Amino acid sequence: MAKKEFKAESKRLLEMMINSIYTQREIFLRELISNASDAVDKIYYKALTDDNLVFNKEDYYIKVTADKATRTLTIADTGIGMTKDELENNLGVIAKSGSLAFKKENEAQDGHNIIGQFGVGFYSAFMVADVVTVTSRALGSDEAFKWESEGADGYTIVPAEKAEVGTEIVMKIKPNTEDDNYDEFLEEYRLRAIIKKYSDFIRYPIKMEMSSR
Ligand code: ADP
Ligand code: MG
Repeated sequence: MAKKEFKAESKRLLEMMINSIYTQREIFLRELISNASDAVDKIYYKALTDDNLVFNKEDYYIKVTADKATRTLTIADTGIGMTKDELENNLGVIAKSGSLAFKKENEAQDGHNIIGQFGVGFYSAFMVADVVTVTSRALGSDEAFKWESEGADGYTIVPAEKAEVGTEIVMKIKPNTEDDNYDEFLEEYRLRAIIKKYSDFIRYPIKMEMSSR
């Protein structure tokens, strides 16, 4: 008899993962900053072998913006970005790691710093956010796309505008409840402390901005 494949209830799996893999909510920021750093690293490695691509260090950074008025926390990077297909495959398939694939394809290039491999870190954003919006423009493309999700229910992808190559992730931070404080993830001192604690080793500058539009 032919072997049958296991099926998984992806909604339940995502909920379980979000609520049990991580013991501390604050690590969502480490995961998103690691992904942003991986995205910049990918441009860096491409530039090593592609003479048409010049890597100017000052053009590459990660920016964290908090806005209390809109309850949004934004992580933007000037990394390699994602095409529509990559948004679909890397963010729409749980436990699929584009970074692991990249590492395998570029095995010859040793000394890389790419962190990602398990393909789940991104979803930790849903520990602190009700809605996550990812707008991305891939290197070499003049089109951008917006991926949006409220978590377990699924996601949408629509065309978008983006002037620069890279990715911008906007998290709509959850409202406080009697037991849980989420406001802290919009506080500059708290964000700085989390970044210092977990992302001190990141090779690219992490800029921080408090916005109140
Ligand atoms: P991992 O980092 O372990 O691969 P994640 O769940 O953190 O898994 O991310 C899944 C994939 O989504 C990454 O491997 C990468 O291909 C893509 N991705 C996530 N964030 C970004 C980003 N800021 N820029 C480009 N690609 C990204
Ligand atoms: Mg990751």
